Amino acid sequence: MRIPELYTRPKPTISFEFFPTKTDADEETLFRDTVPGLQRLNPAFISVTYGAGGGTRERSFRIVDRLRKQCGVEAVAHLTCVGSTRDDIGGILDEAERLGVENILALRGDPPKGQSAFTTTPGGFSYAVDLVRFVKARGNFSIGVAGYPEGHQECADKKLDWDRSAAKVEAGGEYIVTQLFYDVNDFFAYEDYLKTKHRLKVPIVPGIMPFVSAGNIKRIAAMCGARLPEPVLKRLDALAHDDESVRRLGVEVCTDLCRRLLDHGVPGVHFYCLNRVVSCAEVVKNLGLV
Ligand code: FAD
Repeated sequence: MRIPELYTRPKPTISFEFFPTKTDADEETLFRDTVPGLQRLNPAFISVTYGAGGGTRERSFRIVDRLRKQCGVEAVAHLTCVGSTRDDIGGILDEAERLGVENILALRGDPPKGQSAFTTTPGGFSYAVDLVRFVKARGNFSIGVAGYPEGHQECADKKLDWDRSAAKVEAGGEYIVTQLFYDVNDFFAYEDYLKTKHRLKVPIVPGIMPFVSAGNIKRIAAMCGARLPEPVLKRLDALAHDDESVRRLGVEVCTDLCRRLLDHGVPGVHFYCLNRVVSCAEVVKNLGLV
């Protein structure tokens, strides 16, 4: 099923994102514990990230295939421009088609480990918008794109970056999933800009990340250019020695964030679950969505 259709349902669309495991043993644990745990929350789809440089490609695609065929849950394959020529991407899309994967999240990607800036692979793409056009030209895929309520960290002008979200939609992106954020007003401003200035009608779906530990969420937020609001930071620092209390704080923060977003009328919420079930399950239950 194509993802945009899932956002036309009357109830909010819940989805999860996880990253491919490093080993076969971890992949089996993922399918034995994590996936059934997430399925009990009745997600409309699960999306699977794609490692920098395509290093996880084989496993990412296998997991997407298993989710669809073995678990009967719709899945989205992320795809990035990092380290690939057009021909490479063409081959990857051939493989996706062969597996029956319909849904692609088209991204530029972050620089691989050890590199500070993104560099275009000769014969490859410089921006996600170029990848969107390329995937769109194949005709058979439904395409999602990434958006940044606080602006992408490489772009000094937030609104210019928002214009680039719109450009990705105009090129063929059918829905936007946002980067994580913790101030609901950042999302509202982003959404309002896209709907008012660019007259976008596609689903704009907030990305939500619960906390694992104080160090972990601070590191991820900094990496993603997401600001932790001062009151949250203060509570996080006070609990930093106790991961379980930090996890519970994350559930409280994410429940409140989701409640305000759902009251506002977002079509769904997309959880960055970090391959864990418990916090997402608590948030979804708090919201009365399962
Ligand atoms: P782009 O839209 O290309 O933007 C990148 C930068 O270039 C921005 O600063 C933008 O303003 C600028 N830009 C865009 N177009 C132009 C132009 N024409 N001229 C000049 N500047 C321009 N990363 C992974 O490696 N694997 C994943 O699986 C993955 N999944 C993600 C899922 C979601 C929902 C999100 C939000 C992010 C994900 N990322 C993933 C991270 C993403 O790859 C990074 O945030 C990356 O730095 C930007 O990707 P993008 O697709 O938004 O790029």
